Amino acid sequence: MEIIQGKAVSGGMAYGKIFLLGRQDYTAEHRQSAEDPQQEILRFREGCRALAAELDVLYSKTLEAIGESEAEIFSLHRMMLEEDTFTESVEEKICQGISASDAVLDTGEAFAAMFAAMDNPYMQARDADIRSIARRLHEILEGRTTELPVFTEPVILAAEDLTPAQTVDLKKDKVLGFITARGSTSSHTAILARTLGIPAVTAAGTLSESLHGLEGILDGEQGTLYVDPDRQTINRFEQNRQNEEERKARWETMRGHTCRTREGKAIRIYANAGSLEDAAAAAAGDAEGIGLFRSEFLFMQYGRNPTEEEQYNTYREVLAHMPGKEVIIRTLDAGADKQIPWLPAGTAEANPALGLRAIRLCLRYPELLRTQLRAMYRAAVHGKLCAMIPMITLPSELEQVHAIAEEVRRSLEEEKIPFAPDMPLGIMIETPSAALCAGTLAEKSAFFSIGTNDLTQYTMAADRENGALTYLTETIPESVKRLILMTTSAATAAGIPVSVCGELAGEEHAIPFLVDAGVDKLSVSPGQVLKVRSAVQRHLDTREKAE
Ligand code: PEP
Ligand code: MG
Repeated sequence: MEIIQGKAVSGGMAYGKIFLLGRQDYTAEHRQSAEDPQQEILRFREGCRALAAELDVLYSKTLEAIGESEAEIFSLHRMMLEEDTFTESVEEKICQGISASDAVLDTGEAFAAMFAAMDNPYMQARDADIRSIARRLHEILEGRTTELPVFTEPVILAAEDLTPAQTVDLKKDKVLGFITARGSTSSHTAILARTLGIPAVTAAGTLSESLHGLEGILDGEQGTLYVDPDRQTINRFEQNRQNEEERKARWETMRGHTCRTREGKAIRIYANAGSLEDAAAAAAGDAEGIGLFRSEFLFMQYGRNPTEEEQYNTYREVLAHMPGKEVIIRTLDAGADKQIPWLPAGTAEANPALGLRAIRLCLRYPELLRTQLRAMYRAAVHGKLCAMIPMITLPSELEQVHAIAEEVRRSLEEEKIPFAPDMPLGIMIETPSAALCAGTLAEKSAFFSIGTNDLTQYTMAADRENGALTYLTETIPESVKRLILMTTSAATAAGIPVSVCGELAGEEHAIPFLVDAGVDKLSVSPGQVLKVRSAVQRHLDTREKAE
């Protein structure tokens, strides 16, 4: 038996065959040589044609969804791909005996370095473009697609890493759990695993190809993969499964219960969702509302920008899962690790987490926001829908959002389309700047929701995707605590509700601090609602006894 230790990201245990997905690193470890250079050159040219076709599709989708200037990036990529100096350099390397895949990567890196050294800032910024072209071409030449294979039997998936777009497609009956070599506990991949209720482990280091096909037990609670488990470990797995059932039965007693402080203030437990399936899971899990509907996953599921009508219908359906309860739909939070390839910026940015993400993208391309707000105002006629804006950094961004919302209301009125003019519009507090300006932002916000994943990432200057930095973020850092307290006191002073929808809300160690900080709601994965409610009640009981 071999034991592989990583970071625990999503609880539960899985027992099954391990399926190792093709490695996706770009290091020189697996260098191959070209045995037949002429054949390799043909393979390279074939790969270029496939990539050119892919770029054409992305160009048309972007053109249709947003506009010509945004689609330009893909025609630029195509031009770079077909640039003689690039292809000649690759073919020269192949003739020297280097494989097509390696020649593409080497040339990509050399050209990127050349761009980065240029004087002109525009040309300097092209280094990321050429690198992304070379990497995609490398994937094509290695026969890798970004889509997951269709699994014929249930597996424990092992991979170098999974993107959120891949994770969102995981089918629970086919993927019992997953383990990734890279990643961290607050990445969107990890969040999706918790939302889908799939046991998951990340940052496990190298996953050798010999794992493929072996039996494994994945312990998502401890972050461990037991490869080829012995009888004792199998027995422990059975025992743990039974204990888990007993714990779940205890949490069930919290169904229908509302936690209240001694003064009678309710602390409600909502659920986070990213799809209609999650909304159904939230209802089944006894959520008192939906505290964060991540609308970007809708875009990913459609594979294009959903139309106003499609969004309207989806939001209505989400409301139908939550009759009489609040549903907070967040406007598009694309960018950083949630790349939507047909939208501008994205992979071409050197620092996407600090780039044109979320509301920044929507204010740059206001049509995206207009369509989404129209769909929300219309759907809000059918229930308690609230709109929430992600990544607000400056009060002026919120003012621009209000101006667009005003325009949207006016046009709906003129068109005599039914809508709910009073739909509450709140914001996420997930940048240190927003927390520091919470007093000003509260004047124009119907509510706050603290996004502790990004608030922690930006406060600690620690990429939430980087497993090596979790020591900076594992407990609640003092600086983050202070920003949370600034936010809750600004909300209390302004008389607006404040919730937490980051992953901290579902962590038992954080619940006493968050409750004492004065939050009104905690919004967690659908499967965590009863567990969190039970932890909140336990803390309130302890606090009352001490008072
Ligand atoms: C957060 O940042 O805490 C949050 C809830 O938003 P997301 O995880 O989608 O970035
Ligand atoms: Mg966030």
